[in-house]
Amino acid sequence: MTNAIEPTLRERALGAYLGLAVGDALGATVEFLTPSEIRHQYGELRDIVGGGWLRLRAGQVTDDTQMSLALGAAILEAGGWDLANIARHWLAWLKSKPIDVGNTCRRGLQRYGCDGSLESPFSDGDAGNGALMRVLPAILFAFRDPDLLSRCVVEQAHVTHNHPLSDAATLCFARMLADLLAGGYWRDKLAQLREHAKALVAAHRQFRFDPYPKRATGYVVDTVQTVLHAFFATDSFESCLIRTVNYGGDADTTGAIAGMLAGAHYGVGAIPARWLKRLDAEVRHAIERQVDGLLALQGA
Ligand code: MN
Ligand code: MN
Repeated sequence: MTNAIEPTLRERALGAYLGLAVGDALGATVEFLTPSEIRHQYGELRDIVGGGWLRLRAGQVTDDTQMSLALGAAILEAGGWDLANIARHWLAWLKSKPIDVGNTCRRGLQRYGCDGSLESPFSDGDAGNGALMRVLPAILFAFRDPDLLSRCVVEQAHVTHNHPLSDAATLCFARMLADLLAGGYWRDKLAQLREHAKALVAAHRQFRFDPYPKRATGYVVDTVQTVLHAFFATDSFESCLIRTVNYGGDADTTGAIAGMLAGAHYGVGAIPARWLKRLDAEVRHAIERQVDGLLALQGA
């Protein structure tokens, strides 16, 4: 823990969103590698260096951050929650030939482009982490109202991902983030976050993350286990992110989700300056604008 003073709402919100982007940029370098491949190539990955299978510039982000920015832009443009506008923004993003896009996201957006439907039918193959990785702007918009939060979180998910495990994971993180943002803890902050994780595991045993099964794939169960394990086993933003991405696998996305949670918990002041400096400047400015816009939108 680098700052003992409780961060302000803006510092927590900015920490979550910049943390997401920093985790994406950091983890993308080792996406699809195994932990031992990472050890051979990097020792321990501790810096944003670009490269990876996408051959990124250092500080470049991928679909995780880009879909989040598109969601945030859609909320701000509409001045509120307009799911059709969100789907339009995502489809425009897909048509811009992004550097990467998940299969379920692509399929869902193509379906929307064909028939205009805003909900994908249930599919057993939709239990990827795509709905969770991009959910943050919906949380920043709706975190003060639990019913609105649940509705927004699930609606944005179902445009592309319609699966109970994806829903459960996305709602769990939304509730953790909402508590962190609101700052109204009914008990010790970490204990409260553990309660949310416990409730998720109680409802769906496959999310058990202790002992950690050491799978970090894009399957939402593996992703959530990796992030929750790393978050509760560490005590700083930096150590949480380093722990997370060095498991490899879907490392940009586990990094993004860990960055969102740890950023909201520790605040923007805990994100290492060397990582923030590396982050694509346009992305950083867009995030700063969106955080202020989304917090203002709900009259915070
Ligand atoms: Mn990605
Ligand atoms: Mn990914």
